[in-house]
Amino acid sequence: MIDIKSMTEADLSKWLGGFNVAPYRTGQIFRWIYHRHVTSFSQMTDLPKALREFLSEHMIITQVSIDRIQTSSDGSKKYLLRLRDGQHIESVLIPERNHWTLCISTQVGCAMGCKFCLTGQNGFVRNLRASEIVNQVLTIIQDFDSHERLTNIVLMGMGEPLANYDNVLKALRIITSNNGLGFSSRRVTLSTAGLVPEIQRLGRDINVNLAVSLNASEDNTRSYLMPVNRTYSLKEVIDACKRFPLPPRRRITFEYVMLAGINDSLRDAERLSRLLRPVRSKINLIPFNQFDGSKFKRPDDSVILSFQKYLIDRKYTAIVRKSKGSDISAACGQLRARMG
Ligand code: SAH
Ligand code: SF4
Repeated sequence: MIDIKSMTEADLSKWLGGFNVAPYRTGQIFRWIYHRHVTSFSQMTDLPKALREFLSEHMIITQVSIDRIQTSSDGSKKYLLRLRDGQHIESVLIPERNHWTLCISTQVGCAMGCKFCLTGQNGFVRNLRASEIVNQVLTIIQDFDSHERLTNIVLMGMGEPLANYDNVLKALRIITSNNGLGFSSRRVTLSTAGLVPEIQRLGRDINVNLAVSLNASEDNTRSYLMPVNRTYSLKEVIDACKRFPLPPRRRITFEYVMLAGINDSLRDAERLSRLLRPVRSKINLIPFNQFDGSKFKRPDDSVILSFQKYLIDRKYTAIVRKSKGSDISAACGQLRARMG
């Protein structure tokens, strides 16, 4: 059976075309699935009966199920979702001032092994299919009363999106197409640990926002924290960012997890400021979220604030990201796919 939610409109048109089905049927089918949330082809009442039957014989409309929802004291909601093979992933709804942001996962686990990240420490299980990425959004839209205010999507949950490139790209196309989930590509952000060739590919393939997890200002510390830096050094990552095609007024976000005594000195701020000079950037400073067994500590607020001030004084946009959902382990780097 073909997993129709892993197909972009172009994929579906091509497949249907092979059976002489008219191209406009693709839009109809997409709208049934992504706007009207049907779960079977028989519900697609404006399709000829023969076509509905043909589709049901060859294709399946997959779903994920909600195993648990936890609500944090700050209003964020963490969904534990069960996939068809019994694996679990987490997606987190985050309240902002006027809208909601949904943080979705792209892999079960992560192979990158970053030392400060719980997902990374727990290892890699498998890539998500495009349908499993899309279904996180679709399932939560259906569960969530204020879904019309869910305007932003971030690929910052479990996994390294660019290590699952093809499926992530398909999912992004479905999430941002009008007949699909219809999110504006300006409001979709992909975060990467810095896979250079795929950053370049992404820039050619689709117009979503890029966030790069920098987390250090020089190679030694970065290689220690993020083994991927031994493959793609800071210079290579920044060079890829310089070349990344940015529409007018858009910027690349650089994430910087602040770890006491590791990367939080003013020397670091100075190096970071020099490093980012050639890129249109904004900086998210993320105070480290503690988890059991981690050897790192978050810096004192005064240290975080002077780091931020150093950058702001040099005309950077630098925001200290308030940790959302830490009481339910829904904050950055606290996601793990376990029950209980
Ligand atoms: N793999 C991608 C996206 C998922 S991680 C990436 O690394 O960019 C999302 C963000 O959470 C990254 O910026 C990462 O640096 C941050 N993060 C991971 N563990 C964290 C922790 N314990 N505390 C704070 N931020 C963390
Ligand atoms: Fe993977 Fe991102 Fe965690 Fe690194 S920070 S281990 S890339 S999820």
